[in-house]
Amino acid sequence: CSEEEQTEDYLFKIVLIGDSAVGKSNLLARFARDEFYPNSKSTIGVEFQTQKIDINGKEIKAQIWDTAAHSDMNVVTILVGNKTDLKDAREVTTAEGKSLAEAQGLFFIETSALDSSNVSSAFRTVVEEIYHILS
Ligand code: GDP
Ligand code: MG
Repeated sequence: CSEEEQTEDYLFKIVLIGDSAVGKSNLLARFARDEFYPNSKSTIGVEFQTQKIDINGKEIKAQIWDTAAHSDMNVVTILVGNKTDLKDAREVTTAEGKSLAEAQGLFFIETSALDSSNVSSAFRTVVEEIYHILS
């Protein structure tokens, strides 16, 4: 951003994932704010906190994202089979991809970043699904 001067040498993004109620939000609260909530509410969507950490004299900004993880309704996951343009090098059939996605309860789409097939549809699916959950 333009208003804030960026002094750190690195920006690392860290995502906390795991079952609901294992203590992700409280680990972050303890680390970033030295706080603990005995009865914390479950996380809605994602939130992040930043913390500066010095490693070997380099300033590293850790941007830590707290998620509601896989046990909550508000996480949308899509399994993307990319590089469909490499037809001769295909290792996973569409049927295999579909059945894996079905077994894991994921959306499934095959894309090619090279020829752009289904790329916008993949992102649209995620955005649409989140929108449906929220509305
Ligand atoms: P999240 O769903 O993974 O974000 O879990 P929370 O951070 O919301 O914690 C779930 C519950 O476990 C809350 O009641 C917390 O107070 C409690 N909790 C989290 N971390 C610890 C811990 O290290 N020790 C104990 N005893 N309770 C914890
Ligand atoms: Mg949480």
